[in-house]
Amino acid sequence: MTQQWKIAENVIHKIQQAGFEAVFVGGAVRDRILNREQHDIDVATSALPSEIKTIFTKTVDVGIEHGTVLVLDEGAPIEVTTYRTDGTYDDHRRPDSVVFVRSLKDDLERRDFTMNAIAMTASYEIIDYYGGISDIEQRLIRAVGQPQKRFQEDALRMLRAVRFRAQLGFAIENETFTAIKKQAQDIQHIAMERISAELNKIWISDNVFEGIVSLVQSNLANYLPGNFMENLEKWKYCKFTSPSMGWAYLCFLNREQHASIVKAYRLSNKEKNYVQNVLRAYDALLQGWSIVDYFETELSVLEGAYDFAEWQGIELSVTKDQIALIKASLPIESRKDLQANGNDFMEWTNKKRGPWLKDALDKVLLAVLNGSLDNNPDQIREWFLHEFDEG
Ligand code: ATP
Ligand code: MG
Repeated sequence: MTQQWKIAENVIHKIQQAGFEAVFVGGAVRDRILNREQHDIDVATSALPSEIKTIFTKTVDVGIEHGTVLVLDEGAPIEVTTYRTDGTYDDHRRPDSVVFVRSLKDDLERRDFTMNAIAMTASYEIIDYYGGISDIEQRLIRAVGQPQKRFQEDALRMLRAVRFRAQLGFAIENETFTAIKKQAQDIQHIAMERISAELNKIWISDNVFEGIVSLVQSNLANYLPGNFMENLEKWKYCKFTSPSMGWAYLCFLNREQHASIVKAYRLSNKEKNYVQNVLRAYDALLQGWSIVDYFETELSVLEGAYDFAEWQGIELSVTKDQIALIKASLPIESRKDLQANGNDFMEWTNKKRGPWLKDALDKVLLAVLNGSLDNNPDQIREWFLHEFDEG
């Protein structure tokens, strides 16, 4: 990350040499102050996109209509965005039009929360017009300006507040929270993909339960599928290893409406499959996992299903650590590792391909997995001919 900051410093210096202002802004500044892991570093500038493109030789127009140019000259891509204020808002969504301005203060004013409206110079001096540092010290999420107005402009900000609550463990400042409660219904104007993107971040946060509590207390949950209020207590101990696991748990708590949840939140096919695998593993766990369950199910899926059961207070006969050990002790890791395949079976028996093949493969697999048959071609052949070649 130090390298990234150096690269961004160089970008800022070059913009300054051309006679414009440039500073670090946004999430990376916030996370640097908080000593949290920093992601993409954003630079804001008084230069117009066209001016940025004359300063650097390698640029990509990633969001030029919003003033963002990606600068590639310094070795890693850095997003450079022209100071702007937002144009008019329709439908409680982010505006389509933006107005470029030359003042950093005006740019920071349109940002959502005070902690996200702090800028930093290339020498890491803080520029804080809206009390972001004080709010960070008090661990508060506070809207910049009048909360009500800011949430009317863009309803997604309400869900961002809840997401930051979950990620940072900060409280949402009272007036800001009251405004969310009043305007929660506007979240319905926001595209489901953007809502899912925020929930993804809640799932992998350190404070999932606090996030869900805020979602409920802010009334936002009233407009989001998933019966968060009814299931509130079920979220108490949740800690997810991936966003998909969060979706799996949401579906688990709403099994009758599982299909409609998957659809409402626009989950990808990959996520859908994952959810289904976790639910299947959960059901199997209630009977006790068989050796085939251990064999056929990904470790993360087993561990997730195990967590779900623990959070329901279900007593389990294995410990969580044992799952990986059992899986690792299996004689083979995948069906491909079997030292015989369907072609061998057909050759040995002179029988044509048919449903019997899968049956035979399953039996051999089970015998190898439970240790009654060695995974070696000759032994499999002998065992197979004895078991199957009776007609
Ligand atoms: P993350 O760590 O998830 O990337 P972030 O704060 O960087 O969090 P981004 O969505 O990357 O969030 O946005 C970068 C910056 O742009 C924010 O820090 C904030 O200043 C501003 N911003 C983003 N979304 C909004 C919004 N809906 N309304 C106002 N300002 C916003
Ligand atoms: Mg960001």
